Amino acid sequence: MKLTVLGNTGPYPGPGGASSGYLFESENTHIALDFGSGVLANLQKSMSFSKLDFIICSHLHSDHIADLFVLRYALQEKSAELPIYAPSEPSLEVASLYYKEVFLIKKITEELQIEKGNLTFTFKKLKHPFLDFGTKITDGETTFLYTGDTSYTPALVEFAKGVDVLLCDAAFLEDCVSDKHLCVKQACEIANEAGVKTLILTHLAPFEDPDKYLKKGKKHFSGALFVTEIGKTYELKALADL
Ligand SMILES: [Zn+2]
Ligand SMILES: [Zn+2]
Repeated sequence: MKLTVLGNTGPYPGPGGASSGYLFESENTHIALDFGSGVLANLQKSMSFSKLDFIICSHLHSDHIADLFVLRYALQEKSAELPIYAPSEPSLEVASLYYKEVFLIKKITEELQIEKGNLTFTFKKLKHPFLDFGTKITDGETTFLYTGDTSYTPALVEFAKGVDVLLCDAAFLEDCVSDKHLCVKQACEIANEAGVKTLILTHLAPFEDPDKYLKKGKKHFSGALFVTEIGKTYELKALADL
């Protein structure tokens, strides 16, 4: 299993950057986790958009779905609809995804379980102004979790138990309590409490130096720590073995 960062900032991209989006790959499976602005361009540095098996949207804020609205033009020549797994609200944003029968919209719930090859995907409702689901992916050996956007919730600690690699919202560099996002310290505390081996901080502010996130995180997390970088690919099993 490997993860390539296609976009890593929020709520908008910095110069030459891209907002949230990640390519998850395992053998012949290619899945995008979120699809923010700049993600379609960066995806094509790795592979054709036509090879995507499906897209999972953690939630429907624009910094996580903006490029779906241009992907739909790119996919117009494709005969099969591309499945998009997304929360069922807000209704206005959900309605905007239905376009020329390019996408097949499927609802994420906590009961949903997706099986694809040797992979299993499960979901947990987290805490954000828009309904947001964390996505957990396992091949039975290595387990990966992406939070999407979330503030502190015990549900995340619980869901992260047994996870090898946690890709976590850490939007705020400075310590704070918010109902929108986690700060770096909170992301580290959650990873510590859940016993996560490797923590990757993401949803960075477009105007901040990523090294500051790394320095801050190292004060609070003793496991392997990374900060997302666009274009970087992580071999998840190798990170689980660190
Ligand atoms: Zn966001
Ligand atoms: Zn959001």
